[in-house]
Amino acid sequence: MEDNNVVATATESSAPAAPAKKSYKRVSKKKVCQFCIEKANAIDYKEVGKLKKYVTEKGKMLPRRMTGVCAKHQRMLAEAVKRARIVALLPFKGE
Ligand SMILES: [Zn+2]
Repeated sequence: MEDNNVVATATESSAPAAPAKKSYKRVSKKKVCQFCIEKANAIDYKEVGKLKKYVTEKGKMLPRRMTGVCAKHQRMLAEAVKRARIVALLPFKGE
């Protein structure tokens, strides 16, 4: 047991170039689903201003981990965004 520890320490110290610690804590603000706050049962595809917060400038949908939208509302949002694209309120991905 002790012998192993000695060997491990020796190997680590022989490589001083390797960063010893990588500690940067990302202060993650707890995101809450905006639609849950509003108790939305449906998301209107005509509310482009709202939808635009959940898509990139290219019209791509933002991942849930970035927007904090819950799974239920993310599905509704995806539907709304697709409809908005069809009626040309939002651009299609890649255009
Ligand atoms: Zn929600």
